[in-house]
Amino acid sequence: MTIVESNTKSLVEKDRENVWHHISAYNEKNPPKIWESGEGAWITDHEGNRYLDGMSGLWAVNVGYGREELARAAYEQMKKMPYVSMTQSHEPAILLAEKLNEMLGDEYKIFYSNSGSDANEVAFKLARQYHQQNGEASRYKFISRYRAYHGNSMGALAATGQALRKYKYEPLAPGFLHVAPPDNYRRPEGQSIEEYNILRAQEFEEKIIWEQKETIAGIIMEPIITGGGILVPHPVYLEKVQEICNRHGVLLIIDEVICGFGRTGKAFGHQHFNLRPDIITMAKGLTSAYLPLSVTAIRKDIYEKFDTGEENSHFRHVNTFGGNPAACAVALKNIEIMENENLFDRSAELGERLQKELAILKDHPFVGDIRGLGFLLGIEIVEDKETRQPAKDERIAKIIGDCKANGLIVGRNGDTVAGFNNIIALSPPLSCTDDDLDFIIKVLKTVFAEIARTEG
Ligand code: PMP
Repeated sequence: MTIVESNTKSLVEKDRENVWHHISAYNEKNPPKIWESGEGAWITDHEGNRYLDGMSGLWAVNVGYGREELARAAYEQMKKMPYVSMTQSHEPAILLAEKLNEMLGDEYKIFYSNSGSDANEVAFKLARQYHQQNGEASRYKFISRYRAYHGNSMGALAATGQALRKYKYEPLAPGFLHVAPPDNYRRPEGQSIEEYNILRAQEFEEKIIWEQKETIAGIIMEPIITGGGILVPHPVYLEKVQEICNRHGVLLIIDEVICGFGRTGKAFGHQHFNLRPDIITMAKGLTSAYLPLSVTAIRKDIYEKFDTGEENSHFRHVNTFGGNPAACAVALKNIEIMENENLFDRSAELGERLQKELAILKDHPFVGDIRGLGFLLGIEIVEDKETRQPAKDERIAKIIGDCKANGLIVGRNGDTVAGFNNIIALSPPLSCTDDDLDFIIKVLKTVFAEIARTEG
């Protein structure tokens, strides 16, 4: 292609010719949006249309767009020292690790990587090595949940419990098992939420026993399943899982990739529950996605089995970019913004108001359930409220399309194979103003009212 030819082509055409998009099937009639700028909770496409980003990108831009302080933190650090590998150290990595421990309220060693998937791979490798060095080399299996997403790499995808994402890439890493998560909306009739959650937690114990407990290395779970449909457990569920882990010598790995950094109304999602995770993974909101960075935090009493002075007792894992100085500097500034603006409490407040205002939608003919914690909301769309049959694709596509036509971007979640890909998700920036919140509520009410009027 000559330069002249290239210059006459639109960005949309160039995109179609050259870019392969993640997970999306675009075509000529349905090209991807080309986003150009963002400010607060709002993003603008290359044609000048503005939308409120109700998903914070991929559940990540927690402090909102256009934060000059974050750009400045990256700039200053890049100028001073753009790169140090984490085989050694640098000030932002040290200060960030100290800060994360303060937020966790416990003592962890902080291992840096680039993405949520990376952080989970580190967790699996660390857990296996820990058991080996703790005299239990037979422990290599992990249990996670159906519907959960834990990443795209061979181990993290094996931990993921959504078959459609996996089956064309199998065999994935061996040694990953799954149990069903609590889905309180679909619990059997006659069971209280508490009873049901205890039964679901006991499935872990059954799995551990059937598989022979000496083979189980860890359980990995999000405090709330996010991508799989915003499944908020009763506190007894997680507390029971913790107790099962303790009793069987199984490590508890908590994936805070989405739930961390204020999304659920506290610094970390697991802090709503009486939990003491052995390993915690974080990404996304850690830098509000301004730069790639992730963390695997390992409790110090686990770490004690590493670096003991014995040969090969160190963790043989390295990556080039993890703990990049500019990314760590941005994470520190990002957390400072969250603290200065009280965004964790703000998340709780925004979420409460959102749920209160939208409670009226429960009367809507196609709304089966509304649930969430903090500024994280799921609206489960059904075809029939009696049978709870999940809504058809076209109905969900219409709701998402109508929200977009009214200037609001919402997500779609669940699990396609199980037929539960029928949850509208909201995870807006925690920096939303009162006007932004009013806008979200107004659009959702308008869209659902219009659907009820024309199709109800
Ligand atoms: N864990 C959870 C809970 C996630 O939602 C995601 C990504 N959506 C990941 C892990 C993987 O993170 P990444 O895309 O950064 O690899």
